[in-house]
This record gives sequence, structure tokens and C-alpha cells, in this order.
Amino acid sequence: MIIVLRPNATEQQINHIIEKVKKLGLKPMISKGAERTIIGVIGPEDVINAQPLEVYPGVEKVMPILKPFKLVSRDFKREDTIIDLGNGVRIGGEKVVIMAGPCSVENRELLIDIAKKVKKAGAVILRGGAFKPRTSPYSFQGLGEEGLRLLAEAKKETGLLVVTELMDIRDTALVAKYADIIQIGARNMQNFNLLKEVGQTKKPVLLKRGMSCTIKEFLMSAEYIMSEGNFNVILCERGIRTFEDFTRFTLDIGAIPAIKSQSHLPVIVDPSHAMGKWGLVPAVSKAGIAAGADGLIIEVHPNPEEALSDGAQSLYPEKFAELMIELRRVAEAIGREI
Ligand code: PEP
Ligand code: MN
Repeated sequence: MIIVLRPNATEQQINHIIEKVKKLGLKPMISKGAERTIIGVIGPEDVINAQPLEVYPGVEKVMPILKPFKLVSRDFKREDTIIDLGNGVRIGGEKVVIMAGPCSVENRELLIDIAKKVKKAGAVILRGGAFKPRTSPYSFQGLGEEGLRLLAEAKKETGLLVVTELMDIRDTALVAKYADIIQIGARNMQNFNLLKEVGQTKKPVLLKRGMSCTIKEFLMSAEYIMSEGNFNVILCERGIRTFEDFTRFTLDIGAIPAIKSQSHLPVIVDPSHAMGKWGLVPAVSKAGIAAGADGLIIEVHPNPEEALSDGAQSLYPEKFAELMIELRRVAEAIGREI
């Protein structure tokens, strides 16, 4: 249920409603828009429906949210959500945000070298996995905490913010300590306990779409995070599984406008994991921005042949720099900038 308040509703009236909702054992979620405030009421439908919420002073109307996702929905919040990461980086606003870096954090020298190069080319966030979700248990699993420490060093050295994956609920505090954005990987998109855990931190979360999940399921996973009070969710389309096996996955470009029609949350694209081949990454990066993505997360490696993971889809730093020039042009063509 959402309670739409009158434009002139006072703080006192808003607080009164919030208190009432809490007393009923329901969860109020406040969305302050430019014009009016909306209070989302989360809880059992029968308890909510039994309350004459529309009679409260300051209330304009009370509406059910018919969609299964509530806080994620545009019904709850009409304006696009902009996530302010500090350092002048905002995701979901006019600027398209570029995140780049290696698939895995491998060693200090390599990470700092890549970080400096992607920064020079215009990236504002450094990606790099310290905990890696590998298909084989015999493949490189990541450096763990040492990898996180190296990310912190790279951040200090370059000023780039850091996005890194959290795989295990037990590592939440550790990853939250180092990351500016906590990444939840495709394979964990429906790990509901992990989602609830990151929902309890107030850290921005980059939620990747599960490779076999529908848009509705994707949004329901974002709802899990938001229902715990963390509204800083960035959605990432990274390709889904189809019958096509020439590319690693199939980038669902249509998911970008589809999600944006349903949700106020920012959407970014991961062209690297979608394609699995570096030569195909530039074209879909451009397509992602043209389709309205708020950012890209791209794998970059100076020696893809020797990369400990995902070398085949990693761009050389020089290729990444060339791509950035083209991306700026695409962004400009649709009235945005990088
Ligand atoms: C990654 O970003 O390194 C990764 C493993 O991506 P995904 O979860 O989308 O496969
Ligand atoms: Mn990877």
C-alpha cells in the first residue's frame, strides 16, 4: 500500500502517520519526492487493508501497489533514484558512470597499473573481485582479504571508488569495510539471506541479474534489499542464458528500458560478461548507453592471455581508452555525458 500525502502535509502530520503505521506492526518506508512525500506501508495485506489510512490528516490518497515489487516500483517513487557515492560520483543522474578494472584482483602491481590507466581514460570506479564465483572449484578463487586490501591501496593511489563482490554472508562486514559498492553476482541474485544482509548495511549495492532470471525476479531481489531499509541499489544487466552460444550470454538490451519503465532504480550494463569476447564488448557498450543505461562495468587487463580469470573478454587498456572516446560521443548524442 502507498500513502500519497498532500503537497502541503506538515512534518507533524507525516510523523503522526509513521507512528501509527509502526504501532500496527507495519513497516513505513518514506520516499520524499520533489513535489510530495509518499509513505510505503509494508506488511500483511489484511492488516493494511483493515486500516482507514485515508482519514489521517495530510493524506491525499491511499493506493494499493498491485505489482509484486513495491519499494522498487515507480509507483512508490516516480523520480529516478540517484545514488551519491561521494567523490562527486552519482549513479542515475545525467552523467553515465564508467566502472572498469580486472575481473580478479591478482597482485598489487597489476591492479595499480590498471587502476591508473582506466582512471586516465575516464573511469571513476575500479572493479576487481577478491572473492570469485568460479564455475570450477579448481580455478583461481580470488585473494580474499588481501585482495580487498589491494583495492584499498589502489583507491588511495588513484582516488577511484571501489566495487567488489560479496559472496558469503560471513564476509559482509569485511567487504563493506573496503567497498564503496558491494557487488552481488549473478549467481547469488536469489541468495535471499545474502540480499537481506546487504540490505542491513547502508552501502550501495550493485545487484547483477541472474543469468536465468526474469526482469520480475530481478526486481523482486532488489525488493529484498530495499525492504531491509537499504535504498541504494544499482541494477546490472549482464546477459542472460538463451539458446545462443556464440556469445557467453545474451545481453538483454531491452531490459534497460523495460526496467526503467517499472522501477526508479539506476540500471547499468556489463558488456564483458555478456559477450565473453573482448572484440564484441565495444559495440554492446555503446548500445547499452544508447538504450539508456546509467553506467557500464567493463573488464580491463594489460595481459589478457595471462589473466587469472576472464582474459578472453578483457580489453587492453589502450582499447578501453579508445572505447571511452566513442562512449562519450554516444552519451552526448542522447543528451548525457561521461
Ligand atoms: C564479475 O563481475 O566478476 C562476475 C563474476 O560477474 P557475474 O556475477 O555477472 O557473472
Ligand atoms: Mn569476470
